[in-house]
Amino acid sequence: MGHAQAGEGQGVLRWLLPLVNSSNFRLVVFMHLASSSRYADLSFQARCGNSGLHLPKISLGLWHNFGSVDDAENARAIALRAFDLGVMHFDLANNYGPVPGSAEETFGRILREDLGDYRDELIISTKAGYTMWPGPHGDFGSRKYLLASLDQSLKRMGIPYVDIFYSHRRDPNTPMEETMGALATAVKSGKALYAAISNYSPEDTVRACVILRELGAPCVVHQPKYSMFERTPERGLLDVVGREKIGAAVFSPLAQGLLTDRYLQGIPSDARAAKPTGFLKREDISEAKLVKIRALAGLAAERGQPLASMAIAWVLRDPRVTSAIIGASKTHQVDQCVTAASSAPFTTEELERINAILADD
Ligand code: NDP
Repeated sequence: MGHAQAGEGQGVLRWLLPLVNSSNFRLVVFMHLASSSRYADLSFQARCGNSGLHLPKISLGLWHNFGSVDDAENARAIALRAFDLGVMHFDLANNYGPVPGSAEETFGRILREDLGDYRDELIISTKAGYTMWPGPHGDFGSRKYLLASLDQSLKRMGIPYVDIFYSHRRDPNTPMEETMGALATAVKSGKALYAAISNYSPEDTVRACVILRELGAPCVVHQPKYSMFERTPERGLLDVVGREKIGAAVFSPLAQGLLTDRYLQGIPSDARAAKPTGFLKREDISEAKLVKIRALAGLAAERGQPLASMAIAWVLRDPRVTSAIIGASKTHQVDQCVTAASSAPFTTEELERINAILADD
């Protein structure tokens, strides 16, 4: 992975906007000048199944650390650092925040102020499927919810289209034809370029792919949760992804930070498990879990890489996995995660040792 040259990868003066207000003030606007080596490593981008859509091996998710409660400058620095390293896919959802919707607003600001010139390089995804507003059409999978939500997402980000629009979860009470029909409408209206699904079972994935193909808006990618601590996709879903020739962009490959050195010396005050959002709880970090994390960290050290890097390399070892969608609260975490894409392949013995460590998980 190349690094930024002098003058690149930073905010540089791109244009001057003379703005005369009551005190004759001039507003100087800095846009980001991205590293020219961001695509130097050709193997960093991978095709989604048999589609024309490519994703970076490591994508950046904006679920945490990009809300209105978070430090906007830090969020901006993380996004720009990722882009400079070739991470041109940013994964959002209507409800990311907190408050819900605010991650899309933060990203809209980054687009306006820093990355707007690079829009044609960026893959921006959003989703609808979890609670967003009151009433029966602010949740799940109705046509009314999905299409209204997409309009809201576009407005918050200030863009006319997203690259990927996901049904965030299967709605058991709405016909799948209706939910997939809404995705196809989004694609045909030009408000999304590709249709996608997340958190669907293997059986529902097959049906969704059939319906979307018939509607002329094929499913290009599935987004399941997959990590050393969450191996459910190995029980059927990855086989379906392979057979349907779609991509897999897997989320939480670090198990929200557990599969890193973050919790080896206790719970740092700025870590996710210390925050009140409740997505990663203190009780999730049991002594039994820590025993496994320490053993995995030991193996990673033998391989000459940090645990975070090894954990991401492990999900990417399966060729059906197109991209690992990471989260980050600091730019140096992005740097470390991206090294996973160029790490040494696992030997059979290493994979067996990992299986043994995870055995009763
Ligand atoms: P991860 O499993 O990658 O966890 C990210 C967290 O791990 C960071 O916030 C940070 O924790 C820690 N971390 C990251 N890198 C390092 C490092 N090098 N060293 C130490 N700690 C590190 O992913 P997320 O759970 O954040 O999910 C990623 C994305 O997946 C989301 O943003 C979203 O886009 C998507 N997603 C999709 C879902 C769906 O239903 N489709 C559901 C959930 C996520 P800390 O903040 O403590 O520093």
